[in-house]
Amino acid sequence: MSLQSFQYGSDTYEYSICHIPLRAEKIAIHVFPNGAIQVDAPEGSALPEIKKAVLKRSRWIARNVQEARERLTHILPREYKSGESHFYLGRRHVLKVHASSDNQPSVKLLRGKLEVVCKTSEPGVVRKSMVQWYRARAAQIFHARLMERAGRISWVTETPKLKLLTMKKQWGSCSSSGTIILNPHLVKAHRECIDYVILHELCHLKEHNHSPRFYRELDRHMPNWRSVKGRLDGMSETILVS
Ligand SMILES: [Zn+2]
Repeated sequence: MSLQSFQYGSDTYEYSICHIPLRAEKIAIHVFPNGAIQVDAPEGSALPEIKKAVLKRSRWIARNVQEARERLTHILPREYKSGESHFYLGRRHVLKVHASSDNQPSVKLLRGKLEVVCKTSEPGVVRKSMVQWYRARAAQIFHARLMERAGRISWVTETPKLKLLTMKKQWGSCSSSGTIILNPHLVKAHRECIDYVILHELCHLKEHNHSPRFYRELDRHMPNWRSVKGRLDGMSETILVS
């Protein structure tokens, strides 16, 4: 990763360049929910070429950074009211709260909206339903992804045990007995990010530290993990605060 910057209007925008494997053909520019700018460039791209691509889209980047910053200030703290946006699998969904004592309490994802039916629209009650829903979705998705990923790794002979644990600053960890621990908030991130965290922990079953050998395994199993990690870091403030 290297850091560069460009000028737009009176502001300077810093961006990190992430070199990704040659499979990708072109330069891709991302603006994350925290306002960070990441440029994914195929390995071997020359710096002037990258800078040119960034400058060409400077207006778009500046607008998106401004929007992200503005949203961040509005997002905190969560109120659990209709109209607020919440993430699920990397997508922003608008929350719709129905207070109804006739219907069973439920949380559903319908046409891009997260619809919550509760006895009251009191934020604490809505929050509780949503936390339970996220946790149930997390358990199902993480389990499926863990099976899939573990099946492709030579040193994993049986699917490790999975445990969910809400953590403030960590997406996952791996216990000494080989249990994979994942933060249910991770289900708010893109599938690719979920896979990255799972893979990271699976590599710890072989290498228990962040040694060069550990990173070699990560590179081998997910060549673009640095870009995926950037994406996850870029939304962590947004999804860990809820
Ligand atoms: Zn680690």
